Amino acid sequence: MEQLDCVVAGAGVIGLAVARALALAGREVVILEAADAFGTETSARNSEVIHAGIYYPAGSLMARFCVAGREALYAYCRERGLPHKNCGKLIVATSQEELERLPAIAARAAANGVELRKISAAEALALEPALATTGALLSPSTGIVDSHAYMLSLLGDAENAGAALVLNSPIVCGKVDGDGIVLDVGGADPMTLRCRTLVNAVGLNAPVLAAAIEGMPPALVPTRYFAKGSYFSLAGKAPFSRLIYPVPVKGALGVHLTLDMAGQARFGPDIEWVDRIDYEVDPQRVESFYAGVRRYYPDLADGALLPAYSGMRPKIVPPEIASQDFMIQGPGTHGIAGLINLFGIESPGLTSSLALADHVRDIAGAS
Ligand SMILES: Cc1cc2nc3c(=O)[nH]c(=O)nc-3n(C[C@H](O)[C@H](O)[C@H](O)COP(=O)(O)OP(=O)(O)OC[C@H]3O[C@@H](n4cnc5c(N)ncnc54)[C@H](O)[C@@H]3O)c2cc1C
Repeated sequence: MEQLDCVVAGAGVIGLAVARALALAGREVVILEAADAFGTETSARNSEVIHAGIYYPAGSLMARFCVAGREALYAYCRERGLPHKNCGKLIVATSQEELERLPAIAARAAANGVELRKISAAEALALEPALATTGALLSPSTGIVDSHAYMLSLLGDAENAGAALVLNSPIVCGKVDGDGIVLDVGGADPMTLRCRTLVNAVGLNAPVLAAAIEGMPPALVPTRYFAKGSYFSLAGKAPFSRLIYPVPVKGALGVHLTLDMAGQARFGPDIEWVDRIDYEVDPQRVESFYAGVRRYYPDLADGALLPAYSGMRPKIVPPEIASQDFMIQGPGTHGIAGLINLFGIESPGLTSSLALADHVRDIAGAS
């Protein structure tokens, strides 16, 4: 049986960042990816926003990794010349009631060490004339990144440091033996191999893979839930040059406007709890988009929104729980030497990826 040092399961942005960090630390790394290409699931179906770290409870993993990851990601993109833009974002109130909620958002951001500037309606309009607003918060550190170029660069770094990516290789199950974790890998060329460290970074499937590892305590495997987010793109030229977010609603950031690196505007994601992975965008959902968007962009024309794409938030809490944190389980939690499970890596996972990867590398080094 083949013996490996580290296997990283999943070649999304998290698996690639972890593989890079482990390989740069001198570990032997093989990335096993179920699909026929890297980064085709959640990492290809998000907003590509470099989040500032505003909303997460102080001290949470999301708050820590988002702030550290954002700084690391900007530096990484600058060094490598990767397409990104520090365009900034406005959180816009559209009523007196929303205006009164802005200080609480600013206070939460401050607790995370994130700068937000309160600006008047007139100042917001001077920045973004197409807005309707009663006042706003400006987040100067928010930006956007070309996530595919970023993943390609992570993979290049990992491979230069000796890592290998193996596609079409879904890990089916595993079991713990005295010398490591034995994995059954399916796909076109099924194989069995043993590794010293297994990083479970299979995104939406992470609870399924963890449950398929004999010896993993079932009580520690979270239930998975899917919260679908659909996007609609805006035909024509983008009316804004910054990202525009309404004041958040329960469990989601509200129907916001983001821009891609080509300057195309899209709205979303909304939130719809579903019981299976299905990426089709229901065109009927557009009605709620018009209503939500017109509160801050009243000039939105009828028929201007076109169904674009959707992503699935890898939830590990049910709908009635408003927020979740990343869940990172090492041997100290579940008792299995070498196993690291990454659960619930939803937004801001892309932003957090480099910081999260360093953390996983450190756990792997200690285990
Ligand atoms: C709608 C939406 C919007 C978002 N917007 C943002 C944003 O603007 N900014 C931000 O910072 N974050 C954002 N995020 C979060 C971010 O996209 C995720 O945190 C990140 O992409 C998760 O990456 P991942 O590698 O964990 O998962 P994935 O990208 O899903 O990768 C997991 C990989 O594992 C593979 N796999 C599955 N099962 C197996 C198996 N058994 N064996 C081997 N491989 C397997 C899959 O094929 C896949 O390639 C958003 C998320 C969503 C859903």
